[in-house]
Amino acid sequence: MKPVFANSAWVKAPEKLILRGGRWKQRYLRVRYGFFIHPKVGPILIDTGYTSHGLSAPGRSAWLRAYGHLLSPKLNLGAQPASFLKRFGLAPKDIKGIIITHFHADHVSGLAGFPNARLIASGVGYSNLQKNSSLKNIRHGIFPELLPFNFSARLEPIEDHSRAAVRQLPDSYDIFKDGSVMAVPLPGHAQGHFGVLFTQNKTPLLYATDTQWLIDALQPSARPQLFPKLISEDYGALCQSADQVAAFHNSGGAVMLCHDDSSTQFDVEEGAQP
Ligand SMILES: [Zn+2]
Repeated sequence: MKPVFANSAWVKAPEKLILRGGRWKQRYLRVRYGFFIHPKVGPILIDTGYTSHGLSAPGRSAWLRAYGHLLSPKLNLGAQPASFLKRFGLAPKDIKGIIITHFHADHVSGLAGFPNARLIASGVGYSNLQKNSSLKNIRHGIFPELLPFNFSARLEPIEDHSRAAVRQLPDSYDIFKDGSVMAVPLPGHAQGHFGVLFTQNKTPLLYATDTQWLIDALQPSARPQLFPKLISEDYGALCQSADQVAAFHNSGGAVMLCHDDSSTQFDVEEGAQP
């Protein structure tokens, strides 16, 4: 079961913010989402990336519009989920599940377009989001208005799945009850943030989502400090998660991140860099 990734959008960020010792020059970061077909369950997405629903649809709150202006992601129209799925002869209604790694806008922006998907996410992250003040959510890039109206009813909390030990990483949740795809808790970046481990690949693949923005920044000497301290849910936990992902990577595991700008063997739809 080999996942593939599409790049929903490009977002500019000064390198200095996301890499220790970096320059002030801008880096164009990807905003990936993943796709695979589970042999028993069917087509599954990992997050949705940025979509027009979150960035330009009418009726968005002033806060969400301001967020869009501030970050100004450039959507890759050819890599939006509906076009991307066409490559596989599929439509959004065919998606059976979406693994939501956390609730930041660039991961949940398109959820409303998948009416038949069960929504696999951190139940703790979701209940925290409901308890947080609006200001706290906004400060952390969380906009509950992006979630489908029936989110609670469709939620399948990862915490309801059995937990198992996986090599070098924290005990993880067995998403499909067959050990093939594990939700790996990687706290710190956002409430309930987790990665997705594909155990059956020749080289196990960890999609470590937003543990860092750049692969190079996983190593302790290259980790940025100021920016993650400002926006992370828990900076200490983030450092610990980065240590675990770096150890997995250094021992030969394959690691992908949502935003790293280099192309990988798993990227199938990249979109031209602006
Ligand atoms: Zn994030």
